[in-house]
Amino acid sequence: MTVVAASNLGLVNLGFSQPAQTGRRSRAELEALAAGGAALLKDAPAEEIARWAATTFGERFCVTSSMADAVVAHVFSRVAPGVDVVFLDTGLHFPETLRVRDIVAQTMNVNVRSIRPRKTVGQQDGEFGPRLFARSPDECCFLRKVEPLERALSDYDSWATGLRRDESPTRANTPVVAFDPKKGKVKVNPIAAWTQSDVDSYIARWNVPVNELFKKGYGSIGCWPCTRRTKAGEDPRAGRWAMFEKTECGLHV
Ligand code: SF4
Repeated sequence: MTVVAASNLGLVNLGFSQPAQTGRRSRAELEALAAGGAALLKDAPAEEIARWAATTFGERFCVTSSMADAVVAHVFSRVAPGVDVVFLDTGLHFPETLRVRDIVAQTMNVNVRSIRPRKTVGQQDGEFGPRLFARSPDECCFLRKVEPLERALSDYDSWATGLRRDESPTRANTPVVAFDPKKGKVKVNPIAAWTQSDVDSYIARWNVPVNELFKKGYGSIGCWPCTRRTKAGEDPRAGRWAMFEKTECGLHV
């Protein structure tokens, strides 16, 4: 069994008096941190998970947000003010989604970074033909989400998401902390164990910005060409890529 020093697990002094991490860590160090964090934080509150992540990874940490709501960004704004919040601006978002992004940037103590694809939608249409999303959504998601995220994450050793186990069967086993072997980074999911009711309670308590489309029948919100309203009783993510077998954009696999 590998024994990891407590200091390597980020267990010493979880408060922000600890100097921020600035140097690069090896893959083995990150794997050890993830294993330690997963064991330590399995049943911890979201704030404690967030504090551990921000303290452990310092400047090498960011939050990612789809701006469906700003719950995770808000949790981090409370425990790690000024944290980077990465938003993938695909060029195909609903105006309501961009509105949440702008409100977060204006009202929360976080640093919103909008990351764009290498090509505009027009340039992509010119190279691949119009409506690539309708013919090859995996390719479109790679160009407009996966590659931009990989590029953005090159600045970090760890990132947080808003994934929750109750969102869909594909997310039922989401851990709170795990090493992502493909990215070689530590993925943190502070609200993995939350239910929709927990999310609603947090939003009400803290008056967190929420995408207006939830009030208009959308259960999950992505790019406008690939998102439809959900029907009563449907899985919240049933409205994503409804015309394909596809269930995930590739950011979380
Ligand atoms: Fe393209 Fe649809 Fe993926 Fe957005 S969700 S990047 S429009 S395929």
